[in-house]
Amino acid sequence: MAAKKIQFQNEQLIVPDNPVIPFIEGDGIGPDIWRAASRVIEQAVRLCWQGKRRIQWKEVLAGEKAHRKTGKWLPEETLQAFRTFRVGIKGPLTTPVGGGIRSLNVALRQQLDLYACVRPVRYFPGVPSPVREPQKVNMVVFRENTEDVYAGFEFESAGEDTRALIKYLAESKGWQIRPDSGVGIKPISKFASLRLLQSAVEYALAHGRKSITMVHKGNIQKFTEGAFRSWGYEFAGDKYADSVVSWEECHGNPPDGKILIKDAIADIFFQQALTRPEEFDVIATTNLNGDYISDALAAQVGGVGMAPGANINYQEGYAIFEATHGTAPKYADMDKVNPTSLILSGAMMLEHMGWIEASRKIESGLEKALASGQVTYDLARLMPGAEEVSCSGFADLICELMA
Ligand code: NAP
Repeated sequence: MAAKKIQFQNEQLIVPDNPVIPFIEGDGIGPDIWRAASRVIEQAVRLCWQGKRRIQWKEVLAGEKAHRKTGKWLPEETLQAFRTFRVGIKGPLTTPVGGGIRSLNVALRQQLDLYACVRPVRYFPGVPSPVREPQKVNMVVFRENTEDVYAGFEFESAGEDTRALIKYLAESKGWQIRPDSGVGIKPISKFASLRLLQSAVEYALAHGRKSITMVHKGNIQKFTEGAFRSWGYEFAGDKYADSVVSWEECHGNPPDGKILIKDAIADIFFQQALTRPEEFDVIATTNLNGDYISDALAAQVGGVGMAPGANINYQEGYAIFEATHGTAPKYADMDKVNPTSLILSGAMMLEHMGWIEASRKIESGLEKALASGQVTYDLARLMPGAEEVSCSGFADLICELMA
């Protein structure tokens, strides 16, 4: 059966029965979790379609492996493969703190214009959690992925450009910035805000979600975060007038079939997501807020080892699914860590491809594996009576229980 490319026509993915899917194994624990996740994904597809459908994996290089083999951290062929085959998956990649190469993850997102970072956060029974009622957490975070402070527009302290900028701002605006400051620029455009919000609304409509909350810091950053909120309300009111309703219009009780659109300032959101998580459903937010929010919410349902993610350009059909945690180098090649984040990212990928049955099979196998009390070290150390299994052992268990 010759492998084929996923195509994108009329804003729809056309997925053949034997698509080529590029993958980046990742650094550190990447190879361990990739081996585990790919086995689970393949088994789910096999169980659902007995060989009629099959993924043809294509390894592409990035990170330390790419640097070792090609001298480049992110070879052009890798970007080209994701453009050609449209849907891909990746393990974590190393980013040095404070210097060296820029984040490869950020580079991938920016160069492929993967503008929506989508992070579903839900609880699986049995998983240890620091909150009393983790089963009430069921949110999907849509984080803008291309701008905000992640644009990388920074001026180093004492640099010539920095001094010139500080002087210009003092003269033209009267702003007093200390001369030894580093300065960052935070662009938030209407264009990027609205395409992100549109993705969140379309997702909420397609998945029967009840509300969308725009999380922002608009009380302080009026022309960036505040504008994100105002553009959002205006756009939703215009384009989705038949589908959404504001808090003022319904006092928090949307009529059947309508989605409530509301907003929350980021600091109170963090509090309420802990104390009243059931009030939040789909979250649409700017890049830095989204980064913090995704990890904080993941902590409520068992930590970053449990949370999947995707970076998607809905308008052009490009998507890369990924483990949301890092490379955890101290555990590299120990076959020890929790592969769930990448496994659930694989399930998200299958759902995105329309292979829903296989996606559900993975979730059900995972639910049963977690309920069995045989779990990886991160969960075992918090679950009295649990039996610790290896990364590959956990994948084997899911495969067995999904049958
Ligand atoms: P990290 O690699 O996520 O690891 C932090 C801690 O989280 C680990 O020590 C471990 O906790 C826990 N953890 C992470 N993955 C786990 C898993 N699969 N199963 C169980 N526990 C897991 O974060 P970091 O140490 O800050 O970052 C290391 C490198 O990864 C950096 O270069 C960073 O830039 C990069 N990074 C990449 C991505 C990405 O590629 N998307 C994302 C974040 C960070 P315990 O020590 O408590 O066991």
